[in-house]
Amino acid sequence: MEILRNIPLNSLTTLRLGGPAAYLSHIASIEVLREAIEWAQGKNLPLMVLGEGSNVLAPDEGHEGLVLIMNIKGLHVIETGSVVELVACAGENWDGLVKYAIENGLYGIENLSGIPGSVGATPIQNIGAYGTEIKNMIKWVEIFDSKTMKTVKLYNNECGFGYRDSIFKKPQSRSLIVTRVCFTLKKHGILNTSYRDVSNYFKEKDVKPTLISLRTAILSIRGKKFPNLYKVGTAGSFFKNPIIRKKDLEILLKTYKDLPFFEIDEDKDKVKIPLAWILEHVCNMKGWKRGNFETFSKHALVFVHSGNGTTKELKEFASMVAQCVKEKTNIDIQPEVTYL
Ligand SMILES: Cc1cc2nc3c(=O)[nH]c(=O)nc-3n(C[C@H](O)[C@H](O)[C@H](O)COP(=O)(O)OP(=O)(O)OC[C@H]3O[C@@H](n4cnc5c(N)ncnc54)[C@H](O)[C@@H]3O)c2cc1C
Repeated sequence: MEILRNIPLNSLTTLRLGGPAAYLSHIASIEVLREAIEWAQGKNLPLMVLGEGSNVLAPDEGHEGLVLIMNIKGLHVIETGSVVELVACAGENWDGLVKYAIENGLYGIENLSGIPGSVGATPIQNIGAYGTEIKNMIKWVEIFDSKTMKTVKLYNNECGFGYRDSIFKKPQSRSLIVTRVCFTLKKHGILNTSYRDVSNYFKEKDVKPTLISLRTAILSIRGKKFPNLYKVGTAGSFFKNPIIRKKDLEILLKTYKDLPFFEIDEDKDKVKIPLAWILEHVCNMKGWKRGNFETFSKHALVFVHSGNGTTKELKEFASMVAQCVKEKTNIDIQPEVTYL
């Protein structure tokens, strides 16, 4: 086990923000994970877990404890008839796994092409895009609990999955570190091209949807919707799309007749509102800039950091956005990004 000192968190997060981590260790196996945790516990240091840092806002003051970068690699394939289980270690790159599945003719995760980050982080916020959520493919999540120092498998129904949510996001689950995830995929599946941008792509290009062409479509759509994270700081969508009661929707529709909304499976009395629409059409905040931060010109829900900002500044920027939404619509919005 190697312990590095004084590593800037802004070099480990795609928002490019955050002060120094006092200690940091790259975790390549469960044995190293155990050793690193014992080392931190021996010194009474708090732990922080990171994958590829694409969904976090790290504090300016840094982290006084040990940062664990989950880098455990490995993939195990179990075939049972028409179903294939991919058991992937936490440190595998998510999009690499999607590519592998598609190249092997496996259906289920193609709409989640191009989402940055690690496999271990996929259950944390139940990643989703273009009509698919990872909760529908997860069979179990293996975790190492830093309290009990034991490895346990949590089956899908024990993970408390919801829209960009799971038990892993709850404060009481901070000791749970994801080490492997088992995804159930199908050899013969039905492609989901119903999302508007996706169906438009296939109409315009006049190509037949296949696993490969759907991945190409999603990557092309995402390429236009998100800034290049190798060039600017971003964590994708900063806030979650709000879920509101149908009663409240009716009130909003009186003022904003074109307000889009989507039914949700979890609750028939509620609808999901695309926050980007509110930011663009109600708050006039598409491409809105303050200091070192702006909302992306092609997708207002995505925040862009030009490079010299601070976390304090971004929190202020985010609260101005949230305040406008509250004033105009009475909706309280919640960050999708995890504040570390
Ligand atoms: C340009 C861009 C586009 C994006 N598009 C989407 C999208 O379409 N849909 C979507 O859902 N998300 C999207 N995201 C968000 C992000 O890609 C996902 O949330 C991703 O799963 C984060 O992975 P990560 O490895 O970078 O996690 P990190 O950012 O490193 O960590 C995220 C959280 O998970 C915890 N964590 C990470 N790994 C582990 C582990 N092994 N065990 C326990 N806790 C862990 C961290 O402590 C933190 O709280 C986007 C981000 C960017 C930058």
